[in-house]
Amino acid sequence: MELWQQMIRDSVHSVDQLVKKFGLKKEVAEQLDEFFQARINPYYLSLIRYPGDPIWMQSVPDKIELEDMDGLEDPLNEDMMSPVPNITHRYPDRCLFLVTSQCGMYCRFCTRKRKVGDSGKISMKELESAFNYIEQHTEIRDVILSGGDPLMLTDVMLEKILSRLREIKHVEIIRLGTKMPCVLPQRITPNLVDMLKKYHPIYINTHFNHPWEITPESTKACTMLADAGCPVQNQAVLMKGVNDNAEILKELFQKLLKIRVKPYYLFMADETKGASHFRTSVEKGLEVIDKLRGHTSGLAIPHFVIDAPGGGGKIPLLPKYVLHQDDERIIMRNYKNDIYVYRNVNDELSKSKVEIEVVNNKKNGHSKIKEPKNLKNIQKIEVEEITN
Ligand code: SF4
Repeated sequence: MELWQQMIRDSVHSVDQLVKKFGLKKEVAEQLDEFFQARINPYYLSLIRYPGDPIWMQSVPDKIELEDMDGLEDPLNEDMMSPVPNITHRYPDRCLFLVTSQCGMYCRFCTRKRKVGDSGKISMKELESAFNYIEQHTEIRDVILSGGDPLMLTDVMLEKILSRLREIKHVEIIRLGTKMPCVLPQRITPNLVDMLKKYHPIYINTHFNHPWEITPESTKACTMLADAGCPVQNQAVLMKGVNDNAEILKELFQKLLKIRVKPYYLFMADETKGASHFRTSVEKGLEVIDKLRGHTSGLAIPHFVIDAPGGGGKIPLLPKYVLHQDDERIIMRNYKNDIYVYRNVNDELSKSKVEIEVVNNKKNGHSKIKEPKNLKNIQKIEVEEITN
């Protein structure tokens, strides 16, 4: 047995362990176990610094989960978009391929609780129909292996899936959606990365949410993946009490870049059953992005998105940078709230001078108007108060 497999075995998972380790009442621990089982492996457990900290919140069951039974089982409508078992085909040229129900740690905010945990939640007997579906749909050029966590499969099983996918000519890219570099970095072994190298291009989508998750172990795991030629991207979730703070996220994103992981998405938390206590306002997310853009390298700034409830896919959100737009010009503010005009390509129309009046902007305190020097005739345009 490999070290990572032993660490899975040594995880905190039973009701008795939850009672003993985290002081839960037995009946509450039983209800939580029934709702969504726990798995906290010794590595992730070692990252907890104090009760209720961001690592604890993500991994330790809490009775507050039981107060939120109105949330959705399948907030992203993945099951309705599943033409055959194990496949979700939402976007034109890519599909999600669920290959296991197991994870290295069970996140309390998981969107796929209905699919994750018990081994029977995702059938491994039906992989063949999934391969057939991908073969028949020549528009699929990008397959994302997910679950659960595909790196819970043994190297042998994972290689069978990868080699089979590589026989399908129209599949150009294979992505692995895995939280292992963060929650159980010991899973990234020399044998694993040597095997992955044979099936390039392989991209890794991983999932760090807090700077404390960047450790010597996770640094080594991400370095091994990058050295093996796998571009690694991070998909974080904005969560109250975990990372809903621009300074924390700036530290996370900057540290990710240092270990060669590109911050890719920052998601608003889904409307998942048992996880409403993690949800923040959209304004909080916009505020975070506003405090990052311009203040740190663009490389460190992910796309801020809502995965639209009901299966609408990822929709990007931006703080309000465009103050006015018409045929002739676009009026924008930058990260310091200075205002600039960019003339549209229609030069004839754009020779008039613009006087910009910022309405009710004193509250904001630090805006100033830049008189556009390249425009002649005065035309008054009111732009709205800057609120972000
Ligand atoms: S690793 Fe992903 S699929 Fe598994 S519990 Fe966490 S969020 Fe859910």
